[in-house]
Amino acid sequence: MADKVRLGLIQLCGCSGCHISLLDLHEQLLDVLPNLEIVYAPIIADVKEIPECDVFLIEGGARNEHDEHLIHEIREKSKVVIAWGTCAVYGGIPGLGNLYSAEQLKKTVYGTETTDNVGELPSDEMVPPLTNSVMPVPSIVDVEYVIPGCPPRPEINAGAIVALLEGRDPELPKKIVCDE
Ligand code: SF4
Repeated sequence: MADKVRLGLIQLCGCSGCHISLLDLHEQLLDVLPNLEIVYAPIIADVKEIPECDVFLIEGGARNEHDEHLIHEIREKSKVVIAWGTCAVYGGIPGLGNLYSAEQLKKTVYGTETTDNVGELPSDEMVPPLTNSVMPVPSIVDVEYVIPGCPPRPEINAGAIVALLEGRDPELPKKIVCDE
């Protein structure tokens, strides 16, 4: 892997908690940042197109067709794709939506009195069509690694990033559902 690793980060059907967990690296961030070039991260840079990346961390699974499209595009343009966090790996809390149909969910969300135009469902141009279920990333494309955890523990994030920077395979837990 090149000295400066081109890193992409994206939040799909997740809560941003996995991204925030990166900040829990504290001083360790200072060790890894000089070796990273963050080329896609909506919270940092206003980049519209998915660029070619060495490593892409995907937070959250796919809840709509746009998420699904992005996951395929990331796969095509990235050497290493990591399903990052329990939502990306298994579906996580958003997966509870799978207890209901997409139509039921839309009617519940847009039928409440806290929204404008109560009961009027948005067009597909306004809101990307929902998929039939929340789909974890590995159910859509092949990934090199999964990092479960809600959010993943900082030492696991750090271990994975450092290993990839050094060209090693990260040692990752097989299964973590909740942080301690
Ligand atoms: Fe949020 Fe947890 Fe899902 Fe990460 S795994 S996006 S912290 S709910």
